[in-house]
Amino acid sequence: HAATPNYTITTDTTFPPFEFQTDKGDYRGIDMDMLKEISKRENFTYKLKPMSFNAGVQAVQAGQVDGIVAGMSITDERKKMFDFGTPYYKSGIVMATTDKSKIKGLSDLKGKTVAAKTGSAGADYAREISKKYGFKITYFNDSNTMYNDVAIGNTVAAFEDQPVMAYAIKQGTKLKIVTDPAKGNWYGFGVKKGANTELLKKFNTGYAAIVKDGTYDKIVNRYLGKGS
Ligand code: GLN
Repeated sequence: HAATPNYTITTDTTFPPFEFQTDKGDYRGIDMDMLKEISKRENFTYKLKPMSFNAGVQAVQAGQVDGIVAGMSITDERKKMFDFGTPYYKSGIVMATTDKSKIKGLSDLKGKTVAAKTGSAGADYAREISKKYGFKITYFNDSNTMYNDVAIGNTVAAFEDQPVMAYAIKQGTKLKIVTDPAKGNWYGFGVKKGANTELLKKFNTGYAAIVKDGTYDKIVNRYLGKGS
């Protein structure tokens, strides 16, 4: 029989509940479980290459990996360089501060420095409004380091995706969300524009199948509980 195609797929080093490493070193989370189910149904194998989100985005563009699943927001800007699969999760960007912070919202940011993740939609948003609110931005390659910088008081707030920030807080990260989600967007599986159309097609077909039979909901519930 024909050989099953083997792809190289990148993900973020840590972006729970979408991707995170277990104590044993395995990658789990909504994106990871979804990819695994889809690959089984669509009969392909893959090698996972986790790296910083920004490096992953670049690795796809450089043709070093075939695809990216990393809670990646489908934006008009990215659509010029990526083809995206079926949108699978609705997100938006929030600002989080420490528990006792005096920063209650964007208008308290004047003269302060905030944290954002390199190459992320959250960083784009922060940059967009930085002049208006008069703040500076420090960039981080991964979410954990970014949260920690705020927690220890180097930066006053982090800009992060709402479901990811809420999950981290639930898991014990000592921050709180102080803004409503802005810049609502959907996550999508990405390939380099015009490349890997077969992989994209397989992803979409497999995704439709796991939505239809309830597997996708089961995966989301596994991490976020029913009704989320
Ligand atoms: N959703 C955000 C983006 O696409 C962040 C993704 C991430 O940090 N893994 O830019």
